[in-house]
Amino acid sequence: MVIAVLLMLSGPGMAQTYSIVIKGGHIIDPKNNIDGVMDLAIKDGKIALVAKSIDEKEGKQVIDARNMYVTPGIIDIHVHVFNGTKYEQALMNGPNSVGPDEFSFRAGVTTFVDAGSSGWRGFQDFKKQTIDISQTRVLAFLNIVGEGMRGGPFEQNIKDMEARKTAEFAKKFPAEIVGIKLAHYVGHEWAPTDSTVEAGRLTDLPVMIDFGGSEPPLSLEELLMKHLRPGDIFTHAYAYWPKTREAPVDENGKVKPYIFEAQKRGIIFDVGHGGGSFFWSQAIPAIRQGFIADAISTDLHTGSMNSGMKDMSNLMSKFLNMGLSIQDVIMRSTWNPAKIIKRTELGNLSVGSEADVAIFNLGKGDFGFLDITGEKMEGTQKLIAELTIRAGKIVWDLNGIAGSEMKKY
Ligand SMILES: [Zn+2]
Repeated sequence: MVIAVLLMLSGPGMAQTYSIVIKGGHIIDPKNNIDGVMDLAIKDGKIALVAKSIDEKEGKQVIDARNMYVTPGIIDIHVHVFNGTKYEQALMNGPNSVGPDEFSFRAGVTTFVDAGSSGWRGFQDFKKQTIDISQTRVLAFLNIVGEGMRGGPFEQNIKDMEARKTAEFAKKFPAEIVGIKLAHYVGHEWAPTDSTVEAGRLTDLPVMIDFGGSEPPLSLEELLMKHLRPGDIFTHAYAYWPKTREAPVDENGKVKPYIFEAQKRGIIFDVGHGGGSFFWSQAIPAIRQGFIADAISTDLHTGSMNSGMKDMSNLMSKFLNMGLSIQDVIMRSTWNPAKIIKRTELGNLSVGSEADVAIFNLGKGDFGFLDITGEKMEGTQKLIAELTIRAGKIVWDLNGIAGSEMKKY
């Protein structure tokens, strides 16, 4: 009996320890200070081991990642994925939101955070028709407006911005709701901002503020220094709409001093590129002077998907070509966003974490990158998502690096 068991364990049919072993890739895992060529093994949907060398015989499937970067699955904290059939409802269960799986894995993304497409009234539909059935992990900022991003008068209705009601609702969905969002408000009252922050306080969640479009603009300094709390997020960091929104960079290309003060007091900035919110005239001088958004995020929707934004890997490439190191770009797309949304189990490759992994090729050549005005920045490097793993399952494989050898035909 004992002999039979030993034979089974050591025979040619011996079960491998890991479902996947990724060999020879350059792992960048900012949380764990890993930055070098290492192997990574996955078992039961979780990260099982990160080590200098893991025997490939231990893997049912072996992926050769030499000359590629292996990173935690990318987290994009500003997207709109409440796609639906209500044609007059814009981003809220309407045609301007996109489906998550259509844009995530092909760019290395495993977690999308919807930025307020839904308020409390529409959230259960959002959960049922998108969050619960997507392969992509979908989390959400709940809009302070009960009706969500339906456009038009709905997002201007202060009566529908109820802090207590929004907070009570958000508390019922702690697995999905990671913050509260305000956007698109054009009045001059601070009430919408303050109600959003109040809902954030009641839930102990961060808020994300799209500072609307008040003409003349409200004071950005007042927002960042007086109304927001440390940990709250100002989105569209590199937007330039001088008539309706004060920009962080002044007319002479200088970052306003209070922006650095705000960062020091813990205010978070995310990119939120979108179809109208990313200008080279802002981003390049800002980054040169050290004002770098904490999170690289796309503001994905139908108005940005085919514009200068394109997808997360293209946006990350813009930051590489503006001079950030790849380590820094990965940090601002994985571990930083995980911390910002207080989901520190995500955005890292710690043993025991859900195995969300991206493998990137760094293409070298002549590339061009557009901002929202159509100005092109030339660049020499471009991140290409080769393979994406979500919860231990390969969900994207651009060139078949995990494929089996083709038979003779
Ligand atoms: Zn948005």
